Amino acid sequence: MLEVRDLVKEYSSGGFLRPRASTMALMGVNLNVAKGECVGIVGESGSGKTTLARCILQLEKATSGTIHFEGNDLSNYSRAEMRRVRSRLQAVFQDPYASLDPRMSVDEIIGEPMVIHREIQKMTPQQRRDRTVELLELVRMGPEHLRRFPHEFSGGQRQRIGIARALACNPSLVVLDEPTSALDVSVQADVLDLLDELRTTMGLTYVFISHDLAVVRLISDRVMLLYKGEVVEEGVTNEVFDSPTSDYAKILLAALPEPDPRKSPYRYPQTVAEK
Ligand code: ADP
Ligand code: MG
Repeated sequence: MLEVRDLVKEYSSGGFLRPRASTMALMGVNLNVAKGECVGIVGESGSGKTTLARCILQLEKATSGTIHFEGNDLSNYSRAEMRRVRSRLQAVFQDPYASLDPRMSVDEIIGEPMVIHREIQKMTPQQRRDRTVELLELVRMGPEHLRRFPHEFSGGQRQRIGIARALACNPSLVVLDEPTSALDVSVQADVLDLLDELRTTMGLTYVFISHDLAVVRLISDRVMLLYKGEVVEEGVTNEVFDSPTSDYAKILLAALPEPDPRKSPYRYPQTVAEK
């Protein structure tokens, strides 16, 4: 489904009257994602996660390396060809407020991708309206929200609207960059649960990016750990969490709170009942 080979991304800045500086955001990253899988990308801030997402989505041009999506090399694509692929390759970002146009109502926001890709989708306006209601239901929201605007919603609802929009054209791969990081913990759990359910019901494939190991553990089949633009560890989620091999993974995992409070070293003193 997705095959990233030796991906390198160097940002350069400076120039006229300022010294040139460059940042190696990615240094030879390899990533394979199979159909139906959720691969988690974890790493601290600045490790290159968003750069990887932007390169996969072709929002950023890689310095070198290749990205194959459904068998095709994306870097060779023309603008027109990329537009066609775009409906199959969607994204959900961290900040739903920044990614939703405040002047557009919910039905316009969710319906827009279907209008943009109308040559591929071939839907009548009525079909598009029906599909918009269906998508809203899919993210567990009622049709009463259709005429409302982004500012009228909570963070969790806005992220659901963003997800509905991403799913409008039946994508095969969704790149999620910190999709729950801006949300309260309880809302985070709801959105994760929804994403997990949608993956199964819609047969989606995810690249799920987060700095939060606990979140990635919940949703991913496999994980990849990025550190300063390099992959330091990867494997099946449970294996990586139970027996990490790299020093970096061991340090990160040691800092993770114990999910079972009874095993936590920070637990409160035993209660009388437990004794
Ligand atoms: P993450 O998402 O893991 O926090 P990023 O991919 O955003 O990391 O950033 C990786 C590195 O690339 C950082 O050192 C960051 O400062 C740098 N970087 C990201 N975007 C740009 C840019 N547009 N111009 C210059 N440097 C950038
Ligand atoms: Mg980021």
